[in-house]
Amino acid sequence: MLLKDKVTLVTGGAQGIGRTIAEAFAKEGAKLIICDVNEENLKKAEEEMQKNGAQVLALKANVSSSSDVDEVVRKSLDNYGTIDILINNAGITRDNLMLRMSEEEWDAVLNINLKGTFLFTKACSKVMAKKRTGCIINVASIIGVIGNAGQANYAASKAGVIGLTKTAAKEFAKRNVRVNAIAPGFIQTAMTDKLSEEIRQLMLKEIPLGRFGQPDDVASLAVFLASENASYITGQVIRIDGGMVI
Ligand code: NAP
Repeated sequence: MLLKDKVTLVTGGAQGIGRTIAEAFAKEGAKLIICDVNEENLKKAEEEMQKNGAQVLALKANVSSSSDVDEVVRKSLDNYGTIDILINNAGITRDNLMLRMSEEEWDAVLNINLKGTFLFTKACSKVMAKKRTGCIINVASIIGVIGNAGQANYAASKAGVIGLTKTAAKEFAKRNVRVNAIAPGFIQTAMTDKLSEEIRQLMLKEIPLGRFGQPDDVASLAVFLASENASYITGQVIRIDGGMVI
């Protein structure tokens, strides 16, 4: 029970990496808030987690809307009285080559991946700074470190998340709030299931450990970073990519 009674808010918690992180945190004793735009998957996740004994509050919210974010934080505080851990995980891709990328594709990705992380960090860090303890984990991507053709919007958003992580870590360190980023490589979820078999095979060749990552791999790292075992770690970007970016 590394996270006993820690109130943890996971954005994009209805499926994929976010849902797996939420489930791993529940196993370690955390109390959960999961929020997501996808109401159907959110309901399913809430029911299944409750069936497995988790304490979970599921809230429909769009992370890029400041009124939705404020509402989630207010309801979380009404329900649990505090927020100890924030996992900024919600994210999307809208891939296109730069010359073909529309303003809408650019804005959608920046608004959800970067602005959403800023809004939740701002709202939750207020609560954490006041009680002088807390932990924020931002789900970035190796693409934010190395770039990728066809993903100018996504790469810029994730590089932005990395800059935001380091800045927040510096601003909140004296309040004992740690802020770190996880930068996954290729993890098998709905996001990567969209890619063609040809691209998947090309990527596999680039992974020294010879396999795609699983959401559980990311969840184990998130549990460690949120636990007391990582109490001297802040401002870091930890890659979890099977060695793809050695
Ligand atoms: P996923 O399976 O698509 O799950 C993302 C979840 O976030 C979905 O439930 C999605 O709902 C939700 N979401 C989308 N827009 C939202 C919004 N505006 N507000 C609230 N929730 C929203 O993706 P994933 O692979 O688990 O990715 C999770 C995070 O890991 C993302 O930040 C992603 O960039 C990052 N990541 C993933 C990989 C990978 O290989 N999978 C690699 C590096 C980084 P809908 O289904 O309705 O859109």
